[in-house]
Amino acid sequence: MATAGKVIKCKAAVAWEAGKPLSIEEVEVAPPQAMEVRVKILYTALCHTDVYFWEAKGQTPVFPRILGHEAGGIVESVGEGVTELAPGDHVLPVFTGECKECAHCKSEESNMCDLLRINVDRGVMIGDGKSRFSIKGQPIFHFVGTSTFSEYTVIHVGCLAKINPEAPLDKVCVLSCGISTGLGATLNVAKPVKGSTVAIFGLGAVGLAAMEGARLAGASRIIGVDLNPAKFEQAKKFGCTDFVNPKDHDKPVQEVLIEMTNGGVDRSVECTGNVNAMISAFECVHDGWGVAVLVGVPHREDQFKTHPMNFLNEKTLKGTFFGNYKPRTDLPNVVEMYMKKELEVEKFITHSVPFSEINTAFDLMLKGEGLRCIMRMEG
Ligand code: NAD
Ligand code: ZN
Repeated sequence: MATAGKVIKCKAAVAWEAGKPLSIEEVEVAPPQAMEVRVKILYTALCHTDVYFWEAKGQTPVFPRILGHEAGGIVESVGEGVTELAPGDHVLPVFTGECKECAHCKSEESNMCDLLRINVDRGVMIGDGKSRFSIKGQPIFHFVGTSTFSEYTVIHVGCLAKINPEAPLDKVCVLSCGISTGLGATLNVAKPVKGSTVAIFGLGAVGLAAMEGARLAGASRIIGVDLNPAKFEQAKKFGCTDFVNPKDHDKPVQEVLIEMTNGGVDRSVECTGNVNAMISAFECVHDGWGVAVLVGVPHREDQFKTHPMNFLNEKTLKGTFFGNYKPRTDLPNVVEMYMKKELEVEKFITHSVPFSEINTAFDLMLKGEGLRCIMRMEG
């Protein structure tokens, strides 16, 4: 390829300061170094995690930064030592990686790779501790190893899943984070059996994907919990049978759920990022067998407080990154679930804008409108 080994100048959306609109800038993207891949991003979507790190309220501020981690693209060139990917391959970047060599990657139970697990404070490549992005010589930081709000980005090979080239990238890009996370949280971690009652806290894209998992697992009752009543109508399309708005009750929502279900739900999946919702999601499960799974990303200072008696009463609390999927090994199979029409992703995509209108996607998410907004790269 004509661009291989050279610096590429392209458009990227740069977050210069916390909470300020992103600005589309011309950035220089250095060639990939050892074990790195330069990817041409075709579609990227906005996930709430991007918004948290852009607001940087409860997080370490790292600026200027190129955010973005939910995307689909095509390999432009590869660095030294990369043998699994070649220019032209279709890939989904993932915010947490799989080196395939560490104890976690070798364990069937874990996707918490020692080398490439999510690190939200690091703004550089792990190989040499430097950024591959710059504007007139000023380095611009990376975000969770992906930085997909750029026409080209450099990613460690272990954070890229090679997928079926027939899969439409404008659809399956949403599988690179939120949808797989929610789906896996239910199917791989909560594991409800057929006929279960499942509560889902937070009816954003991640929560609705967790709900999709509950539906696929054959749950007979699916209770959606959200503070925004506008989310309820949409959730019906995902199999939601009951709605609870904590604001409509004087007592804690866990007590409402315990009463509604005669002792508690069999499984709950928390997809809000709010620590109080996390506590409610745990306390509302049935004693003896209930399992709660935390998915939402908490604020840095948050503390989870519950009475230890809840554990003695045999309620189980778990958490997950990326729905326990191993990015390189498992994500191609999630894409195949879509290709075989077992999994619908279209219903998660409510908006689509050109990349130049990325701030519209932020506004929609801040207003709680829609689920996923796809941004189309024009180049
Ligand atoms: P979203 O903002 O679209 O949805 C969150 C929903 O939670 C909203 O509808 C909101 O009204 C609701 N909510 C907020 N506080 C609540 C409360 N106290 N009780 C009930 N509902 C409440 O976000 P999303 O993109 O669906 O992401 C959901 C969460 O998952 C975020 O915290 C995100 O950072 C996290 N996430 C985690 C992983 C992971 O691997 N663990 C991956 C992706 C996203
Ligand atoms: Zn590993």
